[in-house]
Amino acid sequence: MSFDSYEKLLNDASDILSASTVSQERLKIPKPMLMEEGKQTIVRNFMDILDIINRNDRDVSKFFMKEFGIGVNVEGRRLIINRKVTEEEFNTKLEQYLNVYVRCYECNSPDTEIVKEGRVNVIRCKACGAQHPISPSRELTINRDQIEEGKKYTVTIIEIGKSGEGRSKLFGYTIIVPGTKKGQTVLVEVKKIREGTAIAQVVK
Ligand SMILES: [Zn+2]
Repeated sequence: MSFDSYEKLLNDASDILSASTVSQERLKIPKPMLMEEGKQTIVRNFMDILDIINRNDRDVSKFFMKEFGIGVNVEGRRLIINRKVTEEEFNTKLEQYLNVYVRCYECNSPDTEIVKEGRVNVIRCKACGAQHPISPSRELTINRDQIEEGKKYTVTIIEIGKSGEGRSKLFGYTIIVPGTKKGQTVLVEVKKIREGTAIAQVVK
């Protein structure tokens, strides 16, 4: 792709960016809504979160029970935790759950499912096709850096968009890389970021 057509793409970026933001909305994880009630903490939109991440309440409750060291139960759409939990504490544990049991270990997309491979539980990604055995220690090693303009990253193109642009995923972002083909792994420099989408250029 020539420099001119690349410039044109940057100019057209707003169309591409708004289109991909819409498709990401589908998997936007709602912010937990916490409420104190006596000695209990109630997560009012617990099932809304689970609906988006497509995990069952039994597994997620078990995780929170273990992490908070106290009984929890689901009542209707709400999670009841039998002690006071701060918003920060809950969000940290939820992030930990997402990183270990939900987000793809390769592209960070939350669009995944857990499948059994023999006796091992595996996270299978619907966005990039990657498959990894669940690793409870992942939280300790994951790189939580978000992407930044002007920095370089290695990405694998997982699909081609409507305008012929290659698309990848990284840290939950959609990375648009013009002039690439599906399946290619390339070193790119991020040029522009908006919302959950970044436009990047292949580094020669
Ligand atoms: Zn993936």
